[in-house]
Amino acid sequence: MQKWGEPSFRSDQIWRWLYGSLVTDPQEMRNLPLPLRQRLADACYIGHLPVVDRLVDDDGLTEKVALQTHDGQIVETVLMRYEERNTVCVSSQIGCPLGCLFCATGQSGYSRDLTAGEIVAQVLHYARALRREDAHITNIVFMGMGEPMLNYDAVWLAIDNLHHPDGMNMGLRRFTVSTVGIVPGIERMAESGTEVGLAISLHAPNDALRDQLVPANRRYPLAQVMAAARYYVEHTSRRITFEYGLAEGVNDSEALAHETAELLRGMLCHVNLIPINPAPGDTGVACDYRPSSQGRILRFQEILMAAGIETTVRVSRGRDIQAGCGQLRQRRETTDREEMP
Ligand code: SF4
Repeated sequence: MQKWGEPSFRSDQIWRWLYGSLVTDPQEMRNLPLPLRQRLADACYIGHLPVVDRLVDDDGLTEKVALQTHDGQIVETVLMRYEERNTVCVSSQIGCPLGCLFCATGQSGYSRDLTAGEIVAQVLHYARALRREDAHITNIVFMGMGEPMLNYDAVWLAIDNLHHPDGMNMGLRRFTVSTVGIVPGIERMAESGTEVGLAISLHAPNDALRDQLVPANRRYPLAQVMAAARYYVEHTSRRITFEYGLAEGVNDSEALAHETAELLRGMLCHVNLIPINPAPGDTGVACDYRPSSQGRILRFQEILMAAGIETTVRVSRGRDIQAGCGQLRQRRETTDREEMP
């Protein structure tokens, strides 16, 4: 605005239109002079991402959109409605280089990092949709496509924007960043003293099994991940969430539950047990794992609770809309391939 010879308060006005009023066109910025609106419209593009696919769960509580970036890539974003919360699950990369075995994104390779603007645009998509229903986003989790710690600067710039008091004003405690255990990222987050929550996808309590399920474990073995987790707790005094996806006969035995209890004993943490989303056959997931039975999940929980570790079983959302990360992108790409002449 200064370069254009405008008073600096114009930038505050524009910011509030973008993040408070959620406009998608400079012409809607009614307190700006008309010539300035026109100049903005000529010079700028408000980067909302068009929806190219949308799936809604049978109960209508979970939905997922495929958003298209300017270069034709697909970004997945999920909305999960709970009684008192509306959680948006955002992506941080297009694809992912880490290749976790349960994950369609991981099996489909990596294209590029998302920009901070593209991350914010996912949130604004659902902020606009919920506003039409007189509702709002309460929580944002970085658990979509990609590993947020590998795109750290863009993720944090997006969080700063969404946290800004003149914009969406989302409290930092309403964000959770989920990682498979990228140690330098966890340490960086710890040293920032942030109030943003940290979730670590554990999935196995020993290196032998975790190396298979989460290949990043070969680079950052469990001992290093746990040391980084303790470092985070020391610096932030915040409780860590460990996510443990349960697959029948793979990582859901009683022996592994006891081993997990030993690994986490005494740590300020909480465990989320998640029956994994089965991957449909056309998604490229290199395995046909099935979610653990209710009985095995409850037994796993019981063992952790007996060791004093708070453990919840997360309801796995969106099975019938392929809400496991990367599955809609896969579906889209398969469809596109089939539609090609
Ligand atoms: S689970 Fe997350 S880190 Fe692992 S491959 Fe999928 S997107 Fe990447």
